[in-house]
Amino acid sequence: MTQRTFSIIKPDAVRKGYTGAILAEIEKAGFKIVSIKKASISKEQAKGFYYVHAQRPFFEDLCTFMSSGPLFLMVLEKDNAIADLRTLMGATNPANAEEGTIRKQFAGSIQENAIHGSDGEDTAAFEIGYWFAGCELI
Ligand code: GDP
Repeated sequence: MTQRTFSIIKPDAVRKGYTGAILAEIEKAGFKIVSIKKASISKEQAKGFYYVHAQRPFFEDLCTFMSSGPLFLMVLEKDNAIADLRTLMGATNPANAEEGTIRKQFAGSIQENAIHGSDGEDTAAFEIGYWFAGCELI
């Protein structure tokens, strides 16, 4: 079933010049880029986006990192998009990520790990709505 998911090319990957290479991996894996925009987000916006992690010890550091430079916000579409993007991303910690995954190739650490992808249908709906207006999703 065609499905949409939300993804971010995180500030570490943008800083290192990996945006094009990561987009190529995403398209090679069969995703259609429904919408994409570059943004510099505030720490408050990052906190709202990651509210489910508010009690985790790394929350402050994560939100500082996500607001440390430009990133790319994306809505992606394909059959089974949510699970397939998670597979393509690889494990949160690049040390545990499988060969060929985006995080294995482009992530530097468990925090600065190159890419975000929604982890479920409810999360994808919340995350797409957090960053995109309906009229941007064409
Ligand atoms: P994801 O779904 O693989 O992105 O992982 P999570 O939802 O568990 O965590 C969200 C983000 O928080 C991760 O992508 C990392 O950027 C960061 N993160 C997760 N675990 C840790 C950790 O143990 N330490 C630090 N510093 N950051 C973490």
